[in-house]
Amino acid sequence: MKIPFNLPFITENEEAYVLDALRSQRHCGNHAYCQKVIERMSADHKYDNVFLTPSCTVALEMGAVLLGIKAGDEVILPSYTFSSTANAVVIFGAKPIFCEVDPDTLNMDTSHLQELVNEKTALVLPIDYAGASCDIDKIKEIASTVNAPVMQDAAQSYGSYYQGDACGTRADLAAFSFHETKNFNAGEGGALLVNDPDLVDRAHTLQEKGTNRRDVLKGLRKKYSWVDVGSSYLLSDILAAVLLAQLESERLITGKRKKIYDVYDAALARFAQTGAIKRINTRIMGQKLNYHAYWITLNNAGDRDKFLDYLMANDVAAYIGYVPLHSSPMGQKLGYKPGDLPVTESIASRVVRLPLYAGLADEGLDYCADKIVESLSRIYD
Ligand SMILES: *Cc1c(COP(=O)(O)O)cnc(C)c1O
Repeated sequence: MKIPFNLPFITENEEAYVLDALRSQRHCGNHAYCQKVIERMSADHKYDNVFLTPSCTVALEMGAVLLGIKAGDEVILPSYTFSSTANAVVIFGAKPIFCEVDPDTLNMDTSHLQELVNEKTALVLPIDYAGASCDIDKIKEIASTVNAPVMQDAAQSYGSYYQGDACGTRADLAAFSFHETKNFNAGEGGALLVNDPDLVDRAHTLQEKGTNRRDVLKGLRKKYSWVDVGSSYLLSDILAAVLLAQLESERLITGKRKKIYDVYDAALARFAQTGAIKRINTRIMGQKLNYHAYWITLNNAGDRDKFLDYLMANDVAAYIGYVPLHSSPMGQKLGYKPGDLPVTESIASRVVRLPLYAGLADEGLDYCADKIVESLSRIYD
């Protein structure tokens, strides 16, 4: 049996919706399926002022433009993230200031953030690793001491909750991903959530190539004109049709993912109890997970490699996670070097993300969990 790391999950409705979108002959952005997705996001999680974009990467870029991020600005973000988080601001000449992670959550370490903020801080840009919220209230509190906005890279946390609010709703801006590897998949896709009311009007213009096309769509004017800078931050209605089917099945998909979590939790309990491994905490006070990813950390890099070798030999595709950005080739070009963020580097050398995709709940889960337990027993029993 072969267990991949990820497989996209398709529900019953994508095909019919895509066909309908094709036949509607309105294929570009902000048509009927985009509207339906936007309404759905509002109804399900109170995500309001949503801008559907071609990806989370582009949503973050759009957020950076909205916030006026420019050359020389300092932007604080974790080193333990995907290149997109950093690129969204580096592309405009901003300097990434890398923050350590908390080894219990792999999210931004707020005590390090406290040390890093200063009057040059133009933005704080945390992520929600594995779908678990960063400590957004604390991060906002620290950012506000230097009047910096917070943009949450919520690529992984669509539908997760923090203190009763859906992830993303407490930051000034937040970005989601609907990439094939995320819980809800449009192939490629994303969204920018604009919670700061002062930024909403401009976001409409920016998204529509700097025009007032929105007024035309609303019937307020006949022709649109160029009124501001902008780009094409638009998701095609055909892809929105795919996304609608996915979001309508949120409960089904999340339920399947939870089942995998439960099986991993039970299988790994004894290794966590002896301290052989640490794992994602599924019961953080006040949080609810969307079960995006399941990570464990082993005691050292050698154990991690042995663990992965055995899984690989048994066709189970676990994954090492991120290479820290500060020690990557681009991070080094920006002036960082290995050794700068010891906690992040230690985590990155020991972490493993286990296979997790909705279809695994239906096929292969027992095999996969058995191989994980076998691999750990060979190291720790
Ligand atoms: C997946 C991911 C992205 C990129 O999402 P795309 O939709 O592929 O652009 C950005 N940041 C984080 C933390 C991610 O996990």
